[in-house]
Amino acid sequence: MGSDIPGLYNMTPEERMKRVMLETGLSVEDVEGISQGGASISILDGMIENVIGTFELPVGIATNFIMNSTERLIPMAIEEPSVVAAASKAAKIARINGGFTVSTTDQIMIGQVQICDLEDPGKARDILTGKKQELLKFANSRDPLLVKFGGGARDLEFRILDSPVGQMLIVHILVDTRDAMGANAVNTMAEALAPGLEELTGGKVVLRILSNLAVKRLATAEAIFPKEELGGKEGVDMIMKAYYLATVDPFRASTHNKGIMNGVSAVVRATGNDTRAVEAGAHSYASVSGRYLPLTEYHINENGDLVGRITLPTAVGLVGGATRVHPAAKAAIKIMGVKTASELGEVLAAVGLAQNLGALRALAREGIQRGHMKLHARNLALQAGASAEEVDEVVKRLVKSGQVSASMAVNIINDLRK
Ligand code: NAD
Repeated sequence: MGSDIPGLYNMTPEERMKRVMLETGLSVEDVEGISQGGASISILDGMIENVIGTFELPVGIATNFIMNSTERLIPMAIEEPSVVAAASKAAKIARINGGFTVSTTDQIMIGQVQICDLEDPGKARDILTGKKQELLKFANSRDPLLVKFGGGARDLEFRILDSPVGQMLIVHILVDTRDAMGANAVNTMAEALAPGLEELTGGKVVLRILSNLAVKRLATAEAIFPKEELGGKEGVDMIMKAYYLATVDPFRASTHNKGIMNGVSAVVRATGNDTRAVEAGAHSYASVSGRYLPLTEYHINENGDLVGRITLPTAVGLVGGATRVHPAAKAAIKIMGVKTASELGEVLAAVGLAQNLGALRALAREGIQRGHMKLHARNLALQAGASAEEVDEVVKRLVKSGQVSASMAVNIINDLRK
């Protein structure tokens, strides 16, 4: 498969789908789920409560991605223009030097059990430390299927925290959740352990729930972006200056990381995973040092090229939740060709880095609005009442006028109809 498909931009949605099928070997049945209306209301009715309908989003394909020598097409579900184009452009620049080098840690999620009202939290911790193996064995008895797939509870960690209601002992259950995101698996184990922890310590358990700060489930991506593609030395210096602002200013770091999550969340959404879980993980990881920092790092190498790197928590799965229920999610996984949750995490890291480089490059060079303008103009033209036949001409005139506004769109439509 090749992920560099020149001209995809100029095709119709049907032609693009055919091309994606050709590149990925997807069958007609595979792609049906990602076509308009692919998910039947009976499937959707089983996903949440009180269902009355659906809310459709476009799924676009980001091109040009290579990760550890594997070509991947990336489906992204998002309402915001320019995200897919920016990721594809940055991936094209990265592929000059072989694309993205990606890796992950183990797929360990953390469950928290909060034990309060302890007379001696240190003593309680020592008692539980002595019972660790028994407790882990008991936790694993709650999810034999996960254990069968090579996962399960691996370790317990203990933290004693001061709080306005006194000291509390926090037990972390470290669970290898394999190809599941793992929230339900971890919550089940945490809840099952709670009565035993109360009995052993004499304390009172309050919360028993997963932590979204998944510091033991990290994905990393790195790429070299040649200076020639970034406006030479001057362009690279501009990008470094823009990046350094994010390292010293949370007002910028917030937007820097939002741009990263444009790409990450679009892939998480397309695969039926939990966008809030990944976003909470990313932003809390960005501030794990006590200061809110950018998720990416950059430096200039000996050639003067820009080297980018990202590490972020990636609590995503290929089983569980909506991932195997929603037909569009199943098709998205097939398009990417990922076989494990760890590979999906690596995709998220590469897309996050690409998105960030794409945004920094555009911001430092020409400002973001120029890239946004054409799609923005299209939205304005449609809102102003342009028909299918009129819309292209209205967009052309709007952009040419240099005044992309709702009132200008109305004027142009009126002129056209005279
Ligand atoms: P799940 O419970 O539906 O599926 C996971 C289970 O599938 C495992 O426990 C295991 O028994 C089984 N399994 C089968 N094959 C497996 C394999 N190869 N690898 C691993 N497990 C396998 O789903 P989940 O992943 O535990 O939970 C995900 C859902 O939980 C998401 O929808 C998320 O929105 C939701 N959730 C999130 C939070 C949070 O983020 N704080 C809290 C609660 C629920």
